[in-house]
Amino acid sequence: MGQRSVAAQRSVRLRDDLADISVYAAPWIDAPVRLNTNETSWGVPDEVRAELARAVERLDLHRYPDPEAHALRAALARYSGHEIAGVWAANGSNEVLQQLLMAFGGAGRTCLVVEPTYAMHARIARATGTTLRREVWPRAERPLTASDAAELVASVGAQVTMWCSPNNPTGEAASPDVLEAVCEAAPGLVIIDAAYAEFGEGAGAALVNRYEHVVVVRTLSKALRAAGVRLGYVLAQPWVVDALHVVRLPYHLSALTQVAGVTLLGHADQLTRHVALTQQERERVRTTLERLPGLRVLPSDANFLCFRTGLAPREVFDQLLARGVLIRDISSYPTLEDWSRVTIGTPDENDQFLSALTEVVHAATSQGGAR
Ligand SMILES: *Cc1c(COP(=O)(O)O)cnc(C)c1O
Repeated sequence: MGQRSVAAQRSVRLRDDLADISVYAAPWIDAPVRLNTNETSWGVPDEVRAELARAVERLDLHRYPDPEAHALRAALARYSGHEIAGVWAANGSNEVLQQLLMAFGGAGRTCLVVEPTYAMHARIARATGTTLRREVWPRAERPLTASDAAELVASVGAQVTMWCSPNNPTGEAASPDVLEAVCEAAPGLVIIDAAYAEFGEGAGAALVNRYEHVVVVRTLSKALRAAGVRLGYVLAQPWVVDALHVVRLPYHLSALTQVAGVTLLGHADQLTRHVALTQQERERVRTTLERLPGLRVLPSDANFLCFRTGLAPREVFDQLLARGVLIRDISSYPTLEDWSRVTIGTPDENDQFLSALTEVVHAATSQGGAR
């Protein structure tokens, strides 16, 4: 309202090129079983939290933090096996993507996004003034082959090509030959978003050393149990990191964030120990789902599954929420009108999801609602 009254008097308004964009956020709903945003259900162990508390106590909060985040980048370099000069971190991988697009996209440049994929890619491209080239591929019905990918990427010829692997929300990783085809065909920067790298194959980190124009963006928000910290990073060639210095804000990573990252990465083995169980649970949930009438589940290299019941996704979402289970309705994504997404949680959470969904599907089948 305040904004409207100012607008009326002074014609102050949101940039015209952003006027059609709605605000992005997963619905913030409290439910006993939250399987809607792909975090890890297991928290940070008490002894690691206590160590972090002690480290925070020692911080000089009256001083600006290290603008280069040396200790954090050294810890990330160790964790990912990449040279420190090619490692850069920011507040979540979303901020890393924003910095990459500020530096390599922007006015007069084009960014390719292959839908359906992570919604933030298109949004960040537009917010940075980059011209968005949105290509739609029916991923659920027809996975992209290397030659499909090469043709698509070459025909658009964007300055920035975004490639999400494993892809959110469909879950499939790009095979090595697809990633290689993308890297070979792209005339500009290739950004591989590998937020789910720890859960499967196809995260492409080795490509960064083979191709100067390829970067891999990763995060502590998923496998490392630290979504609340807001910490993401990029593995790149040092010249890319130099370019990011031009657009980053001074002291963008707080002392608290830096120390949290260093402490957590010091326990990376322990924090990622759930990954094997998560993978095992993913396959258990998949096979259980596939036994339900009319269910289809896509292969996944991540910590979530994309599935179709034959019922309207909104109905599935509402019926599960009524049973205390929150999932993601992804039916507004191009070509995914019939699909839903569920995060793999603890075995107990997964059981609650499975029994709730079984109830919903059987109720619909007995009413003749499903095909
Ligand atoms: C969850 C997710 C991220 C994580 O973003 P952060 O800002 O690091 O929390 C990035 N990319 C994809 C594809 C995701 O699904």
